[in-house]
Amino acid sequence: MDDVTSTPASQSLFDRARAVSPGGVNSPVRAFRAVGGAPVFMAAGSGPWLTDVDGHRYVDLVGSWGPMLLGHAHPAVLDAVTAAVARGTSFGTPSSPEVELAEEIVGRTPVDQVRLVSSGTEATMSAIRLARGFTGRDRVVKFSGCYHGHVDSLLAEAGSGVVTLGIPGTPGVPAHVTADTIVLPYNDRAAVEAAFAEHGDQIACLVTEAAPGNMGVVPPKPGFNRFLSEITARHGALFISDEVMTGFRVTRSGHWGVDGAVEGWRPDLLTFGKVMGGGFPAAAFGGREDVMQQLAPAGPVYQAGTLSGNPVATTAGLATLRAADDAAYARLDAASEHLQGLVTTALAEAGVAHRLQRAGSMFSVFWGTDAPVVDFAGAQAQEAWRYAPFFHAMLDAGVYLPPSAFECWFVSASHDEEALSRIEAALPAAARAAAAATPAP
Ligand SMILES: *Cc1c(COP(=O)(O)O)cnc(C)c1O
Repeated sequence: MDDVTSTPASQSLFDRARAVSPGGVNSPVRAFRAVGGAPVFMAAGSGPWLTDVDGHRYVDLVGSWGPMLLGHAHPAVLDAVTAAVARGTSFGTPSSPEVELAEEIVGRTPVDQVRLVSSGTEATMSAIRLARGFTGRDRVVKFSGCYHGHVDSLLAEAGSGVVTLGIPGTPGVPAHVTADTIVLPYNDRAAVEAAFAEHGDQIACLVTEAAPGNMGVVPPKPGFNRFLSEITARHGALFISDEVMTGFRVTRSGHWGVDGAVEGWRPDLLTFGKVMGGGFPAAAFGGREDVMQQLAPAGPVYQAGTLSGNPVATTAGLATLRAADDAAYARLDAASEHLQGLVTTALAEAGVAHRLQRAGSMFSVFWGTDAPVVDFAGAQAQEAWRYAPFFHAMLDAGVYLPPSAFECWFVSASHDEEALSRIEAALPAAARAAAAATPAP
């Protein structure tokens, strides 16, 4: 294929971008800081493919970091969005697509009511305010390595770009803001029990990723989410399950579909984003009716947004969820499973110790270890330096992976035979590059 290693148009855009925006990107995870080199500027997407500004084609395994469940430019989504745009792009009044999207979310998940917002960050920030307002308490429990957006009180020991860039604390967040945040190791029941034993009557909520994907994929141990649901209830705190990444991806509801729905419990509040926006800025938080009724204008806890429930964004989300039927999930799961097999085979053949972990179709690779990774410390102990040469070999062969060893790989329902064979062809050389890698001096 064409010479992917030469990307003059991307280079020149990156030079211009760096002059006018910090680091040349509008979200840190898009920079290639952890893998080196200049980010690739994409110009178009179709199904599982991305085309960059130099005309190279890549199989996309980032999927806009989660939203593109159906692949890029899905015809049903494009048709619905084009029609919505022609009707006008924002009214600042209630409109029918937001009601339909809310009904779709209520139909698929354990929430009684939802409030639509514009980003996952806004969803978790608002859910925490609501939990504090409902309980009249201030403290929040979170787990290290979990990422809930760039909410001030939740950036402590966060995953995603915070871990990729090795940013230890969070400059700009006053100490008094994080003083009420209790950070615990993930999957650690004893730590949760100790925190509630000591502070139980002051804890407003515990927030966790339903299955963490922002330190690599670290699934909850069996029964862990149910345990969280029980211990929060026992202490009068709310359980907030952050399904911004897992929602409408792991199952038609989210990760709750594989534990809570089966075991018979539900979180008090859930947050959603990514898939439910269909590639547009739309997110949501929802849950128990008595809690949601505390939100303005029904109740006293204030929350608002000029573009919340935007008719174009909600139309895109609705079209995406309607097209995300059982057949789409079956295609997604099959493509992901096939890909996982290809990756482990190539790495094993090249002699690279690794651990592949999954939560439904989401998966990631931990390098240089074959022991289970159950928490952030385990994720950080991996040989992340093996990833950069692997990443660049894949990129050169036309496969676009997340530019960080701490992010999960996103497959879509559109990843077909052609896309998977491109990845299969690229893997052996990349695996050899990972095997030959040496740590930075
Ligand atoms: C992406 C993500 C967020 C933040 O969503 P944004 O739309 O980027 O603000 C929150 N929680 C989780 C689990 C996420 O993966």
